[in-house]
Amino acid sequence: MFIEMDMRTLFIVNAIETMLIAFVLFFIWKWQEFGSSLKYITMAYFSLAIGGMLLGLRDLIPDFFTIILSNALYVLWILLIWKGIRSNRNLHYSNFFAFIVLLLFIVTFSFFTVIEPDTKVRIIIISLMLASVSFVAARDILHKTPGKNVSAEHWYTASVLTIYCLFLLLRIIATIFDNISQDFMSANMMQQWSVLLLNLTAITFSLGFLWILHREVENQLHENTLALAKINAEINHLKELAVLESMHDPLTGTGNRRKFEDDTSLNFSPHLNSEKSISLAFLDIDHFKKLNDTYGHDAGDEVLVSLSALINQNIRKFDTVYRFGGEEFVILMPETDIRIATEISERLRKLIENNIKIDGKPVTVSIGVTESEEQDTLEDIIERADKLMYKAKQTSRNLVVSDSISQ
Ligand code: GH3
Ligand code: MG
Ligand code: MG
Repeated sequence: MFIEMDMRTLFIVNAIETMLIAFVLFFIWKWQEFGSSLKYITMAYFSLAIGGMLLGLRDLIPDFFTIILSNALYVLWILLIWKGIRSNRNLHYSNFFAFIVLLLFIVTFSFFTVIEPDTKVRIIIISLMLASVSFVAARDILHKTPGKNVSAEHWYTASVLTIYCLFLLLRIIATIFDNISQDFMSANMMQQWSVLLLNLTAITFSLGFLWILHREVENQLHENTLALAKINAEINHLKELAVLESMHDPLTGTGNRRKFEDDTSLNFSPHLNSEKSISLAFLDIDHFKKLNDTYGHDAGDEVLVSLSALINQNIRKFDTVYRFGGEEFVILMPETDIRIATEISERLRKLIENNIKIDGKPVTVSIGVTESEEQDTLEDIIERADKLMYKAKQTSRNLVVSDSISQ
């Protein structure tokens, strides 16, 4: 034999290693709040560590501890591994069933230790036990749980348990045909390898399980980021809608005074550029109160809607109409002098008179038109247009009064 593996050394090394793993898992579980699945896996490794320690004390302390209790702790290890896996995959785990399995194991194992001592049978029983639970645990890792995927880390961890299961089956066959020494501590190579493989399984499985947990956290993080991005997009959309709503008149859909101020803030601040004159028409419906009183508020609303639509359809594409107040509209005409602005306003006045009718009677408007001057502020220009509109009201109504006419 080219390597000599002493059974006691193997058990002690196994115990120290698994105890270290158990502590690492314990701290990860405690600090990272990974939930109950890691708690069971941690408990499994403590169980394995104590079991290994007891096995290493063979012939030094009573057989009950080194044979029965130690092997029972090994069985508890694989049962807890299984419980951890089922908990991770959201599968039900019957503690009662596990307890019965453990109890049956202890009873049979005790029988072949105390009443009918037989190392060969004991090896077969423990191997069969570890192999069968490893197999179902490996199968459960790959269970298709809704909301949980099966990826590389699951295949890796399931493979670890499957390889261990296959090795144990091999061990059973070898044990049946081998001449097993009743002194387990001077066991043959197969038994030495079984301890070594248990060691490797314990290490590789713990890494696999941590990999699974890590991936779950990563996936959760990814999902949270996506959800957050979605919420953010919704908030931005709602913000845009709110801004849009706050700038539009809900009845006619045209921009309101706020929109006017927003649109003109760049052009008008701080003073108007005299080279690029802007003209503004202030429009007010004549006798609108009377119209409301005679035909009702709803009819008045309809007039407001059709009048703003008519204006919108008949202004140039770079002109804009805003509803300033109740029945007052402002038309902004950029890069337009007073002559053109007056022409446009006159055309609109006639269009309204000819097209907006209530009970066969025309609805008319009075319009004041002005052109921006050097040093004008936004307020100046609105005030001037408003005054001109009142002049039209005083004169005859259904009239356009502009700067050029008044001067
Ligand atoms: P003038 O020719 O001098 O402008 O007379 P007017 O009746 O049009 O002016 P006044 O300011 O006395 O009345 C304006 C009316 O507009 C009063 C108000 O009831 C009406 N009004 C304001 N907002 C709305 C609205 O959203 N819908 C309707 N139907 N009426 C409105
Ligand atoms: Mg008015
Ligand atoms: Mg009016």
